Amino acid sequence: MLTEEQIDLVLKAERDLWKIPETGFREVKSSKYMADIFEQLGYEVHLAGDIPGFYSDFDTGLPGPTVAIIAELDALLIPKHPDADPDTGAVHACGHHAQGAMLIGVAAAIKNEGATDGLCGKVRFISVPAEELIEISYREELRSQGVIEYLGGKMEFVRRGIFDGVDMSILIHPSGLPAGKMLAVTHGDNGSVAKHAIFHGVASHAGGNPMGGINALYAATNALNAANAIRETFSDGDKIRFHPIITEGGSIVNTIPDRVVVESYVRGATVDALRTYNRKLNRAFAASAAAIGARLTLCDRVGFYPLNNDWGMNDVMKESMEELFGENCVHVSKGRGGASTDMGDLSTMMPVVQAISTGCCGGAHSETFRVGDAKKVCVDTAECTLIAIRKLLENNGSRGKQIIENFHPLYKTKEDYFRESKEFIFDIDAVTYNSDGTVTLKYMQ
Ligand SMILES: [Zn+2]
Ligand SMILES: [Zn+2]
Repeated sequence: MLTEEQIDLVLKAERDLWKIPETGFREVKSSKYMADIFEQLGYEVHLAGDIPGFYSDFDTGLPGPTVAIIAELDALLIPKHPDADPDTGAVHACGHHAQGAMLIGVAAAIKNEGATDGLCGKVRFISVPAEELIEISYREELRSQGVIEYLGGKMEFVRRGIFDGVDMSILIHPSGLPAGKMLAVTHGDNGSVAKHAIFHGVASHAGGNPMGGINALYAATNALNAANAIRETFSDGDKIRFHPIITEGGSIVNTIPDRVVVESYVRGATVDALRTYNRKLNRAFAASAAAIGARLTLCDRVGFYPLNNDWGMNDVMKESMEELFGENCVHVSKGRGGASTDMGDLSTMMPVVQAISTGCCGGAHSETFRVGDAKKVCVDTAECTLIAIRKLLENNGSRGKQIIENFHPLYKTKEDYFRESKEFIFDIDAVTYNSDGTVTLKYMQ
């Protein structure tokens, strides 16, 4: 359990990290803040390298499972938030900074006298960048420079070998819960494909010669209408979410727009659902461009795989919080959330749990979000995680080993994941006008 001094360290870290919000793959200050504390705690810090983030190990010295405890580093861009960074608009409106404070608490307290008596295996503390799938153009730039391959930090960490040897992962995400509830465990979250659709038309004088142009904005609005026309085919259980925005809508008002950009995610509960509906939506987009003689570049990127929390891990978290706050303090939901996270990608390879803590107020991802009770968000979750580690690694790691044995991965190796996920990574010219007057549509790999 945390000492008074350790609690102070955690609460200070929560406040300090709140004040240095940075978005994904830019979390230089936050990563350094975390790494410095880990060094002060006597850990060897293994930096990710040319991106923020690091890991540190606690080794019991006895063979057994390795449990990763994960904390995300990144903030969101909500310039209207009262605490947003005035220069960048960044703010921790998803509460990831509190995960960092919690991680510090666990890392500090696991070194306390007797804390790991009777445990085996290892704990890997991972401070990971870029969970929120935003600023896609910036990440594409990093991709083209060869810095990253994946848009989400966890899969980038997998690619870099930081999850090698990790058998199971725990993350507790800050949120708010009904009174009396300290934690929620759920079935999981949706997966997602990130879509960037560029409609190409022909510019012409909007007053003098509109008949000489091809209006890329109309191609895009056709596409949005066509997408809406197939929404009623989205089956309820697949939990499809499609929420496009237009990020470029034309340049000047007296020129017919020749370039319009639509961005969206396609979210769904299973990989099959993502595949099916993503193709349907791409087909609707391609046909809409073809309808008026426009062209379309479809850029799809694997967003996040559906998160399937492991029920063995869910049970461990539930029992751990109940040890602290008694029965009925944990909300158990068999339902799946509509959001997406790269914990989902990890869940294709290893048993994971992303539990939800309480103590935050206001709406996540909005200007009202804030941490209301930092003790609940950071300290209680750290205590809960310490108990969970004990449950997984005591008795020769029997419970952890049982969970590993019962787990059926979607992908047996990270190489399988890398290969299969390429299905959702492509840039294609979706509309080709053939010399014989026919049109060919291409909307999948
Ligand atoms: Zn978020
Ligand atoms: Zn989040």
